Amino acid sequence: MDRRWVVAVVVLAVVLTCALPRTADVLAEPARDDDIGRYPLDAIARVLVPGAALPCERQRLELVSYRGARMRYDRTARVHPAFKLRLQAFEVLVVETASAHYGRGPRQLLHLGTHNCRRMRRYPDWLSEHALGNAIDVAGFEFAPAARGAPVPQSLPRALRGRFTVRLDQHWNATRGPGAVHRAFLHELGQRLIEREDLFRVVLGPAWPGHHNHFHLDAAPYRVTEVF
Ligand SMILES: [Zn+2]
Repeated sequence: MDRRWVVAVVVLAVVLTCALPRTADVLAEPARDDDIGRYPLDAIARVLVPGAALPCERQRLELVSYRGARMRYDRTARVHPAFKLRLQAFEVLVVETASAHYGRGPRQLLHLGTHNCRRMRRYPDWLSEHALGNAIDVAGFEFAPAARGAPVPQSLPRALRGRFTVRLDQHWNATRGPGAVHRAFLHELGQRLIEREDLFRVVLGPAWPGHHNHFHLDAAPYRVTEVF
């Protein structure tokens, strides 16, 4: 073969290999906000027909029990398998964010609930994502004492080298002492949750009525963020 042809074929092969996403990467990457319709629960109608039973009343959902991978949940989550993957990615974000503030990730995630076959409280014509096992209400985190020699930030108050709990209802608006550190952590987590469109499509926090004490996170087929 002509030498120029050989060079051209090699260059083309390299370009194609780099340009095409590897299958494993595609499978590992959760659906992004711009591919609404691809997530397994997207096809279920969220607006309810008057008088009709909820989907979770009509048929048994295939949910899994989940207690966390990077941190333990204070009680078992009952979620759709696709939502479990979102929770696992969320845990990575929590550990990253917490490590910058406290020098370690939390030992436990405190939540107020996952699956609950019900309508939206404020919009009863709409199905709650909790009805599909497609949502979680995160109330806070519990941290174990920092390991001896762990790289905690120099500015970390001494009390936060030991065991402590961070809760939205107590620390979202805190301004002094350890509470101010918790506030900074919770606010950064809220901001990063909004920025990470591949994690949750709906991110609600204290700015949304009825959410002073938790982040509501779900993968509904629409996007709403209201945290600050
Ligand atoms: Zn909720």
